[in-house]
Amino acid sequence: MQKIKRRDFLKGAAGSVALLSVGVQSQSAEASTAAERGSEHVGILYDSTLCVGCNACMSACKEANDMPPDPTGGSITLDNADDLSENTLNVIKMFVDGNGETKDSAVDGYAFIKRQCLHCVDPGCASACPVSALYKDEHTGIVKYNKNACIGCRYCQVACPYLIPKFEWNDWYPQIVKCQLCDHLIEKGGVSACCSACPTGAALFGKVDDLLKESARRLTMEPGVEYAFPVSSIDAGTVQTHKASEYVPHVYGEHELGGTQVMYMSGVPFDKFGLPDVPKHSYAAIANGIQGTLYKSMVLPAIVFSGLAYFINKHKKMEEAEHDTTNSNEDGGKS
Ligand code: SF4
Ligand code: SF4
Ligand code: SF4
Repeated sequence: MQKIKRRDFLKGAAGSVALLSVGVQSQSAEASTAAERGSEHVGILYDSTLCVGCNACMSACKEANDMPPDPTGGSITLDNADDLSENTLNVIKMFVDGNGETKDSAVDGYAFIKRQCLHCVDPGCASACPVSALYKDEHTGIVKYNKNACIGCRYCQVACPYLIPKFEWNDWYPQIVKCQLCDHLIEKGGVSACCSACPTGAALFGKVDDLLKESARRLTMEPGVEYAFPVSSIDAGTVQTHKASEYVPHVYGEHELGGTQVMYMSGVPFDKFGLPDVPKHSYAAIANGIQGTLYKSMVLPAIVFSGLAYFINKHKKMEEAEHDTTNSNEDGGKS
């Protein structure tokens, strides 16, 4: 009973702060421009065709980031989260169609998808945050979170096109929770824990430019032929041999909403995983263009509220689509 009351209070308070912050945001957004990838920016290339659904990345993520177990996938003793949450920064989910027998097939097949923050080049969450609690690290491009600055308005949750930031509803001092690419490991010369733990190279760490070159190489591979694939980090020099799969001829995140630093390759269309079909320009850049033209005529508030309604509606549809994407834990994986 206490938790429900607190949740309702926080919802109301957040709504009030959000409404107030529209004014703050509308003024600060005028000065911002669309960002670009930097040559030192780092990220992850997730290749669904190499993923075996072992969930080693999920365990490594918990350990590296000191996150509690999350048995929402059905077990009361194991950590087997069925989605991202305030306790889970990284989750492996599974798409299944028909008899689910053929890996990486959209018909009568199955495929895995790794959900985490995509570290957008021009992040909507950071643009929407009225106090810059979410911000982009200039050197690495990682979208970081400053818990001391956060006022709990949850604007970032509404602004994220990928439904990533979660909120600690059950905590007396709630924070926003999302992957920060294991920046604490990268600062010491390491790589993201999920990539270190991945036994197949499905999650590969590196500079975004190098990962894009690697993804372009994979798109030229002949299905069924064996090739060397880097494991863990593209700079590590460790490779494994795999037969190439037939890829969807597109790298999700190369251009979406101005690009992301976590990018996806797959054998099944990306909408099967609930990844949204979005424009090339970031929403922040689109909004800035509209705002520059219309702010003085006071049309901005109507656009902001229309935009929020659009996001909320879009998120509802994405959540419905996500219900169709089965978590690998429910089926014990296919490894
Ligand atoms: S995926 Fe969402 S939370 Fe992550 S950087 Fe992009 S907008 Fe922010
Ligand atoms: S980069 Fe780190 S925090 Fe993000 S999903 Fe991987 S292990 Fe988790
Ligand atoms: S560790 Fe690698 S192979 Fe295993 S589930 Fe994670 S991404 Fe897939």
